[in-house]
Amino acid sequence: MTVLDQFRLDGRTAIVTGGNRGIGRALATALAEAGANVVVANRDEESGRETAAEIASETGADTLAVPVDVTDEAMVEAMVETVRAEFGTPDVLVNNAGITINVPAEEMSLQEWRRVVEINLTGAFLCAKHAGRAMIDDGGGSIVNVSSVSAFVANHPQPQVGYNASKAGLEGMKNQLASEWAEYDIRVNNVNPGYIATDMVEEVLENDETMANAWRRRMLQDEIAPPETLGPLVVFLSSEASSYVTGESVTIDGGYTVR
Ligand code: NDP
Repeated sequence: MTVLDQFRLDGRTAIVTGGNRGIGRALATALAEAGANVVVANRDEESGRETAAEIASETGADTLAVPVDVTDEAMVEAMVETVRAEFGTPDVLVNNAGITINVPAEEMSLQEWRRVVEINLTGAFLCAKHAGRAMIDDGGGSIVNVSSVSAFVANHPQPQVGYNASKAGLEGMKNQLASEWAEYDIRVNNVNPGYIATDMVEEVLENDETMANAWRRRMLQDEIAPPETLGPLVVFLSSEASSYVTGESVTIDGGYTVR
């Protein structure tokens, strides 16, 4: 096998939560380009279906849209069953679904805190649990959690304590799952992006020059990257190319955390 062949995902099945837009859509497209059957898994049915159809026509891959709220365990379990029936056992799970609620810590309601932690951390756990069970039954796989530099550093100037706590939680979850599931040939890794130009940050770039400049000052590279920048790293972590990489967190942030 040549070095580039090791990045191919032909015949593999990849679930991408939040695959309908933003980073998830770019990752779903990258995995499809590498040859995988791709499952777009998010709440909004219409955009999920549209994105899955567009990725299929752009890449020639087989795709499937499965509506799921990652905080609803019954839906997550049913999603994995649907994927097994349609494509077979998932080989790759990308836990990408995530939100932020930016309010000062002293004003954050319990409900807001729970919402962020439930989607970003509990949702990722539920998807890992059910995809992991299928992978255990069927010879292994690769789980990639889309975490954030916010797992390691404070963000400034926006207040986002729930977000940072949830992403730090993904760090511990990844270490423990990698350890518990190594014997089943399941690798678990995190990617930790800096600022990426999606709906989550575009609004700030357009409407809040002070905040956008505060972010840029900490980056070594000048530009806030498009979501497609993350595709090659996630294909690497999903494929045989990273067969000896597990329990790892890879930062991809234009140098944000160096400064
Ligand atoms: P977007 O706001 O563009 O997309 C969020 C995605 O999550 C949507 O696809 C949404 O789909 C899905 N989602 C939200 N809640 C749920 C839920 N309960 N169940 C299933 N799907 C859900 O965000 P980004 O693309 O910017 O972010 C994607 C990931 O990348 C997040 O985990 C985020 O924390 C992380 N990240 C983003 C960075 C950035 O700068 N943009 C930087 C670092 C990390 P739907 O609403 O249809 O359910």
